[in-house]
Amino acid sequence: MGSRPAIEQRFRLNRTGLFVVWALVSALLVSWSVRSAGERALADVMQKAGETLAVQTETLSGVLDKYRLLPPLLSRQSSIRALFVRDAEGNAQTLAARRVAEEIAGMSAALDVAFLFPDGEVLAYARGGFVTSGEGLEDLIETARQGRLGRAALSLGGDARTYAFSSGVRRDGKFAGAVIVYVDFYRVEAAWALSARRIFVTDSDETVFLANDPAWRLKQMQTLREGGDFLINGRFEPRIDLTRRLPLLGWDLHVLADPSPVASARLSAASIATLSCLLAGILALIVLRRSEAAIVRARTDRATALRLERLVRDRTRALSVTNRSLSHEVEVRREAEERLRKTQAELVQTAKLAALGQMSAALSHEFNQPLAAIRSYADNATRFLERGATDQVSGNLARINGLVDRMAELSRTLLSFSRKPGASIGPVPLATIVDEAMLLARPRARAAGVAIQVDPGIAGLTVKGGRIRLGQVFVNLVNNAIDALSQTSNGLVEISARQEGDWVIATVMDNGPGIETGELSRIFDPFFTTKGVGEGIGIGLSIVDNIIRDFDGSIRAEKRSGGGACFTICLHAVAEPGKAVSPASEPAGLDQMV
Ligand code: ADP
Repeated sequence: MGSRPAIEQRFRLNRTGLFVVWALVSALLVSWSVRSAGERALADVMQKAGETLAVQTETLSGVLDKYRLLPPLLSRQSSIRALFVRDAEGNAQTLAARRVAEEIAGMSAALDVAFLFPDGEVLAYARGGFVTSGEGLEDLIETARQGRLGRAALSLGGDARTYAFSSGVRRDGKFAGAVIVYVDFYRVEAAWALSARRIFVTDSDETVFLANDPAWRLKQMQTLREGGDFLINGRFEPRIDLTRRLPLLGWDLHVLADPSPVASARLSAASIATLSCLLAGILALIVLRRSEAAIVRARTDRATALRLERLVRDRTRALSVTNRSLSHEVEVRREAEERLRKTQAELVQTAKLAALGQMSAALSHEFNQPLAAIRSYADNATRFLERGATDQVSGNLARINGLVDRMAELSRTLLSFSRKPGASIGPVPLATIVDEAMLLARPRARAAGVAIQVDPGIAGLTVKGGRIRLGQVFVNLVNNAIDALSQTSNGLVEISARQEGDWVIATVMDNGPGIETGELSRIFDPFFTTKGVGEGIGIGLSIVDNIIRDFDGSIRAEKRSGGGACFTICLHAVAEPGKAVSPASEPAGLDQMV
């Protein structure tokens, strides 16, 4: 595959080559067709002219032959011989001879028939006029006297011409006169006049004796011809001269053929050949152009394909590089993830240890405080026993009992925190659960002077949950509210619930001090508490949150606008109130919570 200029040059060379070949072939073809068309046309012209010549030669010879034989025949007729006698007074038989002459001329259609005495005196003639001119008459009589056929071409003035044949009449072996027959060429010339070609006869003097063109008659050939041109209608035009000799008379019969069909045949052959060559040249040029365009197209296609291939190769290379770097990145990320997982595990471990530490600190504090109190009460009781003050001893023992109860309660709470959630989750009536929870919560509330209001709208709502654990939730929330309201007069805890679509929204609100905004996010964390030592360990809300999550629900805390805390619980609503889950199916009793 060459460069573009190289290809263009090749195309130019091809075109030049094609042009040279085309020009050569065209020239050969045109000249050959011109020549062959000319030859054909000439042959045609010659053939037709030749035919005319042959026919007219025959016609003329026929006419002359007819008249040639007439004088010898007549001169041998006894009735005609008898006319050539003078009577005693020397008078000729003029009248009888004239009748015979007229009869013969009429029958033979001769121009004239004349009888003459040897001295040239006219015995008789049929039409008259010619003989009197006397031109060539002596020769005719002389030849007849010699016993030969006399002949002479005669011009009779104007364009009147004739040919005369003479034969001698002999009486008793002596020359008694001559019979002369004048040939009429009028009919011959009239027949020739129908032909478009010039037909004429020249005699030995090159004088035109007969012609179908009246202007030519009795003219010298040299005035009518200039080289190959002949005088036609006042000007010289090229003609082909076909000649045949009439030996009898020493004449030449000519037919002039018009060669113009040859020229026009040549011209039309030349134009047809030229046009054909031009057409062939144009076709060849079109084919060449097309093939050039196809070559250029193929070249462009190849170049495009190559470019595409290169592009694909480059892209593939770039893609493999990207792929490699991606795999590397994946590897790096995998390692990073691995490290992250390890770090997370370590963090969880650390958090667990921290929670354990936090819990241990809280528990040890919770247990150490009553233990220290128990020790001091026991020590005092021992001393009271030594002194015999038994009343104080029993008082101290009662206090010790109270502290042990508190420690047992704390232990139970911790136990419930560690317990796994039960599997019994189903439709439970919310009103029943709240009522049961309030049975447990009300004594504390009463003692603290806090009122509890349950919205009657709660009736009829059924939620997805566990009966005991949902009760724990409400007991815990109400207990926290009571704790918060301990310093408040007119403390009120309100419990209400409503259904919103597939959810039941339950709220527990109080009019206490509320929760600080900074603490809202932390109150559900285990061991978060704001209460003093011995009053709380901060796992109540954490348990509540776990329980609600177990029911696929959610809980959030917020500050009420008018003061106080508001806990909102979202639980799945159950459309048809289902059978409540029996208390026995729950792992822990409500009392364990308080
Ligand atoms: P505890 O009661 O042992 O402190 P909880 O997890 O039950 O643990 O409560 C965590 C903290 O949430 C409490 O210490 C208290 O500060 C806050 N809290 C809970 N309920 C209320 C409420 N109704 N009003 C004000 N603060 C509350």
